[in-house]
Amino acid sequence: MKIQKIELFEVHLPYTGGSYELSGGRLYTGFDSVVVCITADDGTEGWGESTPFGATYIASHARGARAGIEEMAPHLIGRDPRDVERINDAMDETLAGHNHAKSAIDLACWDLFGKSVNLPVYKLLGGGTGGRLPVISSIYAGTPEDMRTRVAEHRKMGYLGHSIKIGAHDREGGPRLDAERIAASLADRQTGEYFIVDANGGLIPETALRMLRALPSDLDFVLEAPCATWRETVSLRQRCDVPIIIDELGQQDSDMATIVAHDIADGIGLKISKAGGLTPARRHRDICRAAGLTISVQDTVGSTLSAASIFHMGATVPDRLLRCILDPRDMVTVQTGAFEAPIKDGGVLPPDTPGLGVRVDRQILGSALHCWEA
Ligand SMILES: [Mg+2]
Repeated sequence: MKIQKIELFEVHLPYTGGSYELSGGRLYTGFDSVVVCITADDGTEGWGESTPFGATYIASHARGARAGIEEMAPHLIGRDPRDVERINDAMDETLAGHNHAKSAIDLACWDLFGKSVNLPVYKLLGGGTGGRLPVISSIYAGTPEDMRTRVAEHRKMGYLGHSIKIGAHDREGGPRLDAERIAASLADRQTGEYFIVDANGGLIPETALRMLRALPSDLDFVLEAPCATWRETVSLRQRCDVPIIIDELGQQDSDMATIVAHDIADGIGLKISKAGGLTPARRHRDICRAAGLTISVQDTVGSTLSAASIFHMGATVPDRLLRCILDPRDMVTVQTGAFEAPIKDGGVLPPDTPGLGVRVDRQILGSALHCWEA
């Protein structure tokens, strides 16, 4: 099998809830998504997606991802897409960094790999554990009572995990408001529920410690991405007893090695496009498994192709370590294709159809921005 053609598409994904707020006053009303179709020499199509969370979440943005694909695509024509590690080597030799650009291509190669052997991607990643994958909600920062209401709404829909966004400026209420948001969001906690309190790097050790002191001591949650830098995170780690989860800071293989070597965290948010695709995400999964770190399999955001990559990877994480997965489909109002993986009994299963299992709708994508062909 050889790569014959690479097409690049752009699609806008409006946010379902109107306006999404993260720490530092970052607001998002929609997301610019990058979609890639790789056609093999036998006519099989492989699809991949990469949707950065705007331009202020991590050091990536959709226009940069598209420019990165323009750099790499001509160097991939003629290669076997199933040699996923070698495809990633070729991308690294052409472009340093830019995980979001590489992720869309990597996903399309895994989709082709699965279709070429008539197997779902999760089989190729090691095989599914068989359990339903518990789905997490994403509760953007708001008033404490509003956040409590949104947790309850997601609980009714069957969500078992909840990601509670915090990181209030001092002028808004600071650590005291964040403590109230956490207490309200956890007020109706049910057995079996899992709460991530996610600051998206919006705290410094001082504000994080003040917030933790303002909380009742028996609340059961983990603290994700409290600080924006390694130094701040290590400092906080040494001075608090709440489990720490690394998200934005953990992007490269070397970041995973750093977390383990210096015992910086108890788990990671494994976002597929942040890691650069399923190929590096597979390594991150295995490093975490070896070190006893929990894993939440997510993506920055995205539509059906992104959801599919999450579900296939999530299915291969041992139950003991899998905390939850994100279903990004409920965050956007446009879907790039049909994908049969409904939420049932609080969880989802990846489909058994070959590849990623998404039937992409070219009508929604419109015409390709660029096309490279052998
Ligand atoms: Mg996070």
